[in-house]
Amino acid sequence: MAARDFFHSVMRIGPVQIGTHRDRHGRTKHAAVCGNDNCGWSADYSNQSAAQLAARTHRCRTH
Ligand SMILES: [Zn+2]
Repeated sequence: MAARDFFHSVMRIGPVQIGTHRDRHGRTKHAAVCGNDNCGWSADYSNQSAAQLAARTHRCRTH
C-alpha cells in the first residue's frame, strides 16, 4: 500500500499484521495487511477493534 512507509506494526493475527498509519489529514487509521504473497489483501479501519475483527475473520484467497 502507498502508506507502507508510515505503517507501524502493532500486532500480528495469523498472516495479518495490524498497524497504524496517518492519512493525509493527520488522522490515525488502523490498517490490516495480509503478509501472504498470494493474497495481498489489505484494508483500512477507523478503529483497532474493527481491524482486529477483520484480521481474525480473514481468509486468504487460495488458487
Ligand atoms: Zn490473506
